[in-house]
Amino acid sequence: MSNREKNPEEILKGLMEANKDYAVGNRIEIDAKRDAACSARPQFPEAVIVSCLDSRVPVEQIFNKCVSDLFVARVAGNVMNEDIVGSLEFAVLVNGVKLVMVLGHTSCGAVQGCCNGVELGSLTQLLNKIKPAFEAVKLEYGEGADIESAEFINRVGEKNAELAAEQLLKSSPLIAEQVAAGKVKVVSGIYDLESQLVSLIG
Ligand SMILES: [Zn+2]
Repeated sequence: MSNREKNPEEILKGLMEANKDYAVGNRIEIDAKRDAACSARPQFPEAVIVSCLDSRVPVEQIFNKCVSDLFVARVAGNVMNEDIVGSLEFAVLVNGVKLVMVLGHTSCGAVQGCCNGVELGSLTQLLNKIKPAFEAVKLEYGEGADIESAEFINRVGEKNAELAAEQLLKSSPLIAEQVAAGKVKVVSGIYDLESQLVSLIG
């Protein structure tokens, strides 16, 4: 079945199964001929993933995918901004992709930087975009929150991916319309650097 014949749920199920294969070491082999052929053809990727800059999250690899299988937008902390929203509108509205995933990860340096109040050049305004997640998780944990613990930082990472997916729907009425009509699915997930597994949030 081609990507265009699958519904968003089928595409999501396939992606999650492909990640499980990757995590257990059942990985696709690099096929240079296939890659070259796909590279020279028009593209019809099955999904678009917004992920962090982190070098330990090679998006195509963790979903066991090859050239032309996925659109990937990467920015530290997988935050939403106008240009990322525009890129997602291209993927969904122009190219016809039916699944958008905002993918955070454990031990995220950008999330940790936000929790630690790091200020540095243009990174400051990027980390500010993670603050709503930080504040929400601080409320969740209450007075005794240990904002430097791995557990707290990973929970902020989850919340941040969830809020970025919500932000996309607020920022793009065009994508929100497709989602409301059941034609497109927007989800958020977390990639665990240790288990190499993606879990869906919510
Ligand atoms: Zn990160």
